[in-house]
Amino acid sequence: MSEAAGTIFPNANFTSDDEEAPVTEHLFEESGPHRIQNTPDGLTHMTVSLPEDEHGMIGRECGAAECSPGLFKVKPGTGIVTEPHDVAFCPYCRHPDHPTAFATADQVRYAQDIAIQEAARGVNRMISRTLGLGPNGKKKIGGGMFSVEFSLKSRVPTSVARPLEEELRRDIVCDGCGLAQAVFGLASWSHDCGRDVFLQHVHEELVVIRKALADVDDRRQERGARVAARDIENALEDLVSIFEAAMKHMTREHLRRAGRTPDEVSAVMATIRNAYQNVASATTAFRAHVQGDLMRETAPSDEESLRETFEKRHPITHNLGVIDRQYLRRAQTGELEGREIRITVQEVVAAVDVAEGVLQRAYAQACPTSIP
Ligand SMILES: [Zn+2]
Ligand SMILES: [Zn+2]
Repeated sequence: MSEAAGTIFPNANFTSDDEEAPVTEHLFEESGPHRIQNTPDGLTHMTVSLPEDEHGMIGRECGAAECSPGLFKVKPGTGIVTEPHDVAFCPYCRHPDHPTAFATADQVRYAQDIAIQEAARGVNRMISRTLGLGPNGKKKIGGGMFSVEFSLKSRVPTSVARPLEEELRRDIVCDGCGLAQAVFGLASWSHDCGRDVFLQHVHEELVVIRKALADVDDRRQERGARVAARDIENALEDLVSIFEAAMKHMTREHLRRAGRTPDEVSAVMATIRNAYQNVASATTAFRAHVQGDLMRETAPSDEESLRETFEKRHPITHNLGVIDRQYLRRAQTGELEGREIRITVQEVVAAVDVAEGVLQRAYAQACPTSIP
């Protein structure tokens, strides 16, 4: 678990030219809040604690260039807290690296700012000593006072969190290691232990829909029938969106594990387009690209009701499967187009249950082993 960015700087030493009592001192004073250590091999090691967001999480970024969206968050103190913890994983692409290597560009800059600030303190201290300045940093020369002071302020990094990103953010606690991580879009892997958390993630997405549906009666009492009807439509919209995103995710992962290149995977995904928003076309696409049976072990009556319910949805405005880094940066809200649809809470609740079973069995076919 990396709650801090370890940063290593070349050791800067200062040797006084006082021939009677030469003194070598380090530019960076040891210990202190950044636990500074000057190592014998000439490096200075500094530990910089990173500011947390309002949920106690810190941003992380995958170093793999082709990874998208690449940005995620973890809660310090959860997950693997015992040392040594030498390898962690990207939740999206499972790129392995040392836990500290997932620092965001902003965090690296922040750590560098802190180092510069510490260096400035060291320079200040050395100059004061050389010039024989008093504890107040001043020295009387002739009739006037002479003083030297360096002051640098470090810039607090802007958080990965901006309001719209928060909307897309999904929190998961890994069943394996207990890490609390937040991702944008769907993710497969626990950052700390590398365990496959995809179905756990899908389940938690569906829990949100189940909760919204459970509140519909209260909302009808409080806000009226139109609001309640809109809530049901939104829940259905979300269900279709999650279903499609999960199907696309597992298809991509299946192709990747089968050894297809990123370009080949993209080409296949381009042909799938919105096939996974509809039960019949989803079954065809899954057979074509994963060679699996999407409705395996699903009762024909369940398949039929899922198909009917899905067909009542609103046009999809965006899906979790296509969110990328650029989207997170430029994200903009989309208005749902209103359209009158008669749909009941019970219908959508039933569809959520059937869809979850379908996704679990599809994942078992598409990605049968949890580790690639
Ligand atoms: Zn990655
Ligand atoms: Zn884990």
